[in-house]
Amino acid sequence: MKKHTAVALLCTAIAAAGLLLAPKDGRELSYMSGTAQKRENEGTGTKRKGADDGKDYIKWVEFHVTCDAMKQAYQYDLDTYGKEVHLNWVELLAYLGARYGGDFTRYKEEDLEDAAKVLAEGKKTIGELTADMQYYEYYREAYGAVLDGMVGEYEVEVSAEGEPDKKESDKMDSKEGGTAEKTWKKVYGLKAFHPIAKGFPYSDYDDFGVSRTYGYKRNHLGHDMMGQVGTPVIAVESGYVAELGWNQYGGWRVGINSFDGKRYYYYAHLRKDRPYAEGLKKGGVVQAGDVIGYIGRTGYSREENVNNIDEYHLHFGLQLIFDESQREGSNEIWVSCYELVRFLYQHQSEVLREDETGEWLRIYQMKDPQACIEFD
Ligand SMILES: [Zn+2]
Repeated sequence: MKKHTAVALLCTAIAAAGLLLAPKDGRELSYMSGTAQKRENEGTGTKRKGADDGKDYIKWVEFHVTCDAMKQAYQYDLDTYGKEVHLNWVELLAYLGARYGGDFTRYKEEDLEDAAKVLAEGKKTIGELTADMQYYEYYREAYGAVLDGMVGEYEVEVSAEGEPDKKESDKMDSKEGGTAEKTWKKVYGLKAFHPIAKGFPYSDYDDFGVSRTYGYKRNHLGHDMMGQVGTPVIAVESGYVAELGWNQYGGWRVGINSFDGKRYYYYAHLRKDRPYAEGLKKGGVVQAGDVIGYIGRTGYSREENVNNIDEYHLHFGLQLIFDESQREGSNEIWVSCYELVRFLYQHQSEVLREDETGEWLRIYQMKDPQACIEFD
């Protein structure tokens, strides 16, 4: 199919460049440099190990959607929920992606406004609007792999402010945060959370692809968020714990697979001695917004539990899986998370410290319908 041709070409170029260096579970790492992403002629006969299997799946994604574009598209989605035409934010972004060739420096609010108007008024369907766009299907699938699990229906606890027989002081500052007055509410909206708990300071900048030197020369395949030691780290999306334990690059790290298997979230350099939230185990289910661990500076050592990173920070990575052959090795696709994290800032998990254990626990539980299915 045409939509994957350009992508396949990029990957062929990378393979040909011989940059296939990522070691097993080197999640901090990159084998991919911007300059390697050059197109090559099709039919040079270059074989890609593992992926040149004739299967039709996406082999490369660059995620340059800006926070502003995500916010605007998301707002259209929210505003039209339950209406005759419900605008899907990922479809809107894929439309823009196809229009801009993925380059969101070209983003203009009016472009999205115009499209949203045509769709909302029923003048065209998304299929009709994008019929002449050669790469729409590619962007729909690529951006969908990043974003499709992040918005939907779910239930969440909220403070029971409407309760007439409770004084304000009885509600939220009860000693056990988990039993303060709360009530369940059905919600449609952003299910995914920001990776740092609410109220904890951090700093960051767009550092995707910058050079790293530990072990071997490579590029940074994630997003670093500098914070204080012990800052609670939050599960961005619900899923299964796939990896837990020491890795010479990531230190104490945890890897979580989304339920649909398309995203692998990687959280690394967690705290020395007590890296993880209590009860976290490989194969277990976590829900978006759960505390999963604590910021530290472990890693860059073959020896376990060693602080060998200069600065306390969370390394947050997001890998896309279109085919199982992309999980490990030369075919991994990691996407830039800086803009995504900015977008998720509106949804931070509130936590409370348990005095006896020193653990931080989320205050408001959620029921992700997908997680509930997985529990059954
Ligand atoms: Zn990092």
